[in-house]
Amino acid sequence: MRTERAETVDRRADVAIAGGGLTGLALAAALGRAGCTVAIVEQAPLASLVEPEHDGRVTAVALGSQRWLASLGIWEAIAADAEPILEILVGEAGSPSTVHYDHRAVGREPLGWIVPNRTLRLALQAAVFDRPEIAIAAPARITAVAPQPGSLRATLDDGRSLRCGLLAVCEGRFSPTRDLLGIGARRFDYGQLAIVATLSHERPHRGRAVERFFPDGPFAILPMRGRRSSIVWALEARKARAVQALDEEAFAAEVEERFGDILGGIRLEGRRWYFPLVLVEAERATGPRVALVGDAARGIHPIAGQGWNLALRDVAALAQVIADHTALGLDPGDPLALERYAAWRSFDGLALVTITHHIDRLFANDLEPLRLLRNLGLGLVEQLPPLKRFFMRHAMGVVGELPRAMRG
Ligand SMILES: Cc1cc2nc3c(=O)[nH]c(=O)nc-3n(C[C@H](O)[C@H](O)[C@H](O)COP(=O)(O)OP(=O)(O)OC[C@H]3O[C@@H](n4cnc5c(N)ncnc54)[C@H](O)[C@@H]3O)c2cc1C
Repeated sequence: MRTERAETVDRRADVAIAGGGLTGLALAAALGRAGCTVAIVEQAPLASLVEPEHDGRVTAVALGSQRWLASLGIWEAIAADAEPILEILVGEAGSPSTVHYDHRAVGREPLGWIVPNRTLRLALQAAVFDRPEIAIAAPARITAVAPQPGSLRATLDDGRSLRCGLLAVCEGRFSPTRDLLGIGARRFDYGQLAIVATLSHERPHRGRAVERFFPDGPFAILPMRGRRSSIVWALEARKARAVQALDEEAFAAEVEERFGDILGGIRLEGRRWYFPLVLVEAERATGPRVALVGDAARGIHPIAGQGWNLALRDVAALAQVIADHTALGLDPGDPLALERYAAWRSFDGLALVTITHHIDRLFANDLEPLRLLRNLGLGLVEQLPPLKRFFMRHAMGVVGELPRAMRG
């Protein structure tokens, strides 16, 4: 097990990063590349985060995110495990209306890639390990933060301390350091659990992802390398607990019941994972010498597979703002840099919070007028190619004011 102690952390870093998950590691890699010194503080031993038992999820990596990973040389370690998404079918159970997104309508590149989270974590860890400009304290937590002239002082739970120009909080949606800093967050509990599992199946998936909406939650099946797919099944918590109690065979039968037999016979590979679904939105994205990044700024419903793509746009934007400031000899925690970051990221964040929340609420309802409205909406999108292309480009993360490394 690789356990990084805090020896190198008892010093000054340009940027301290609280949280060494997908977002914190990506930010460290980008800032290291931009010439900043970085110290990561992660509560878990780093090796535990890449154990197969830690996280059985996959991530739909959008084209913009893939471009960013490629620009940092990280994609090379991911590509062999990444399955291109060529088509997406979206529909409602019991309704004939379906929207069919085909990557060929917007170009030659795939709509995105399905990548196991473990592959992402391994590649990102490899990108930050053994880099002289990146120090890692793990396992460790920040217990106090105090302003100093021209810096912040973070005290760690092992008694060490760290001075930094900027503290980037990447601790996920329930971030203790965000609380410590007195930044409040709005929460909405969806009352759902996301059930995640990997299936192997008889027929090839042909790069097709499918999302079907049921009144008790959306069900997605995502193509992985080979004849394998990952399911993300968001279900009312009470029903999810009943599903949790099913043995493998009964679980596979439930999945087939929801999904039909388009992939032929299916078999569960490995265990199932359960994630409570809660929307968390921080009341602000910055504070004095502080930036919230990724799920710590807002953690959204996984209905559109956009949470980490949104987080990577935070990462790329913050890294660019800091690189531009430090190139002028300015400090990374400069209020103008933080203002620029907060202003840049507010619309994208708010848009995805609103869209994912309302899609879930719109479909989590069996009322007839809403059902009609949904059918009408899906039918309309299917009939209007420009609208379809607009949605596709958004999902691919290639619209809006993109950081340089995501533009392609
Ligand atoms: C079921 C499901 C499916 C998803 N699918 C997709 C998808 O297809 N595409 C997509 O883009 N997104 C998806 N997401 C969202 C995505 O997983 C998150 O956006 C992403 O994991 C956020 O990463 P993060 O590093 O910001 O936060 P986290 O993953 O929560 O990581 C936070 C890190 O901080 C550490 N930490 C916490 N507290 C402390 C502390 N006090 N001190 C030190 N360290 C601390 C934790 O140990 C952890 O390593 C999905 C989410 C779910 C639940």
